Amino acid sequence: MRTGTNLPAISGYNQVVVLDSIRRARSGLSRVELAERTGLSAQTIGNVSRRLLEAGLIRESGKVVNGPGKPRTLLQLVSRGSFAVGVHIDPAVITYVVLDLEGAVVAHSRTRTPSPPQADQVIELMARSIRALIDDSGVDPSLVLGVGIASPGPIDPEAGIVLDPPMLPRWRDVPLRAALSEATGLPVLLEKDVTAAAVAETWFSTGVSRANFAFVYYGTGYGTGLVLGREAVRGVSSNAGDAGHITVDSEGTICVCGRRGCVGDLITPRALVAEAVSAGVLAPLPPRDDDPLDMRAVGEAFQSLAAAAGSGDEAATRILHSAARHLARALVVIVNLLDIDEIVFGGPFWEDIGDAVLEVLPHAVLTSKALIMKREIAFVTSAIGEDVAAVGAACLVLDYAFSPRPSGMLISV
Ligand SMILES: [Zn+2]
Repeated sequence: MRTGTNLPAISGYNQVVVLDSIRRARSGLSRVELAERTGLSAQTIGNVSRRLLEAGLIRESGKVVNGPGKPRTLLQLVSRGSFAVGVHIDPAVITYVVLDLEGAVVAHSRTRTPSPPQADQVIELMARSIRALIDDSGVDPSLVLGVGIASPGPIDPEAGIVLDPPMLPRWRDVPLRAALSEATGLPVLLEKDVTAAAVAETWFSTGVSRANFAFVYYGTGYGTGLVLGREAVRGVSSNAGDAGHITVDSEGTICVCGRRGCVGDLITPRALVAEAVSAGVLAPLPPRDDDPLDMRAVGEAFQSLAAAAGSGDEAATRILHSAARHLARALVVIVNLLDIDEIVFGGPFWEDIGDAVLEVLPHAVLTSKALIMKREIAFVTSAIGEDVAAVGAACLVLDYAFSPRPSGMLISV
């Protein structure tokens, strides 16, 4: 089994600090600027940058004249010096990306999640798809640092275990990280899907946006990723952001928690498809004894519902607008709680209904009597699109490889 990883080559703390500084300055930094930013001595910077140059992770990229003295040589990242794989598992679809060191997507692919989604079959499919994607991308496999997985929660990221996600009913305590690491021969990191998505947004943000926001993840389930002060909020067990049981309709259907009208129960694709079937917009789905949730069929029916709304069907539009008002009620609670001024929407099913939802949701939030701070709130669709959680998972691999923090969440084989 291949054990190739470049982590040991850059494991020195100072190297990681220097590389992270260079990564953040896209146009490059001189050795003098690096010393200023990192607090390291000129001699240490000289030694570290020589090692990074030899390892092919940075390059010298021209000179700048800055005040008196001789021109300074700029050091810049070799964006194709290392790569990371990101995988996002949603009960309906699995997304794969390969990212270069700067975070650019160099390859991506997507597969349907097997139905029913048995853990061992899903892991085997993921390993095969990762290998195929690396092959297709033309990236030298020895330059791949590792695999980040964005998974539905709850998870135990330290143990690398997916605990018992409600939308994957046959998954209980699945050791996903170890299994995928064994199957791919690569180090693997596990993160909750909504957190990975939120991290991806912070990586690609510029200026003042994406500093304090909630990421509304709309996939098979609904979840919320949280970023405050540009840092993802993970909580004690890395499962922060579960807002599914916020009550938004006192007369709604009874949730698994026993109460009525929980947002996570009311607005999922499955719930909206059921509403559309009762309203006569869609034909009933054929029952599947072997896979009662049957997310493939739900996904297809959901696209039909979105298409019907898109072509002006009033009953279909009413269902999506009602879901938007339910979501708005939950978002008011989240905005009040965290004092945030931006909501970013994404996830595998968002694109289908985003336009319809955004026709009514911003107004419903901003005019809510429950909203405490009356000020502008930005409602935006993810800049990264459908790949967002997979991109975030790969960003986390780069983060853990190149940031001066413990990398205990990555296991090597
Ligand atoms: Zn509930």
